[in-house]
Amino acid sequence: MAWRTTIGDGHSHMRRVTIVGKATYCKNASTIGYSSRNARPGDFVVWQTNDNPRCYGRVAGRIEQSPNDGLEDVTGWVVVLALGDRMSQLYFRFVNPDDIIECFKLNKNLLVFFSSIEMNDETIPMLFREEVRGGLIDSYVDKTMERFSVRCPKHGAWKFDGTYTLCPVCAGKVEVTAMKYPELQHKDE
Ligand SMILES: [Zn+2]
Repeated sequence: MAWRTTIGDGHSHMRRVTIVGKATYCKNASTIGYSSRNARPGDFVVWQTNDNPRCYGRVAGRIEQSPNDGLEDVTGWVVVLALGDRMSQLYFRFVNPDDIIECFKLNKNLLVFFSSIEMNDETIPMLFREEVRGGLIDSYVDKTMERFSVRCPKHGAWKFDGTYTLCPVCAGKVEVTAMKYPELQHKDE
């Protein structure tokens, strides 16, 4: 059974709706590459309206039935947790499935990598090399990350596995930085 939940206060903040954890068919979504026309909970979607040329977010679920409040009928619309265009805010939006132009599974490691990589004279040449060889796209980033490391200034480095955590020894801040390529790692052996 798909889950079902209710959100919204029905007043100033958001209309009160019941959403279900089911896929929604988006007839205008691209089918190129990994894009799909079925927007499932957790999927990343891109949509556009007259006011906003490109909006981004993740599917929460589908509105089971529009509230009987005299406003626009949103039955069957998608509730999205939207990402603000400054990447500084998340907020719920009701999205007409006809406005969704892309829908796909997000490789969250790409975003973790993007938001945590340090910019310095070690990482920038590595990033450029990876970009040229196609390593900075979602389908290869898991492999690319193995070429980078997490480093505590006091306690050394370990392989970056997509999580960006505190140092296990001192619980201090760590940085994601470059690791030498495998062919260069063992030159002393
Ligand atoms: Zn440490």
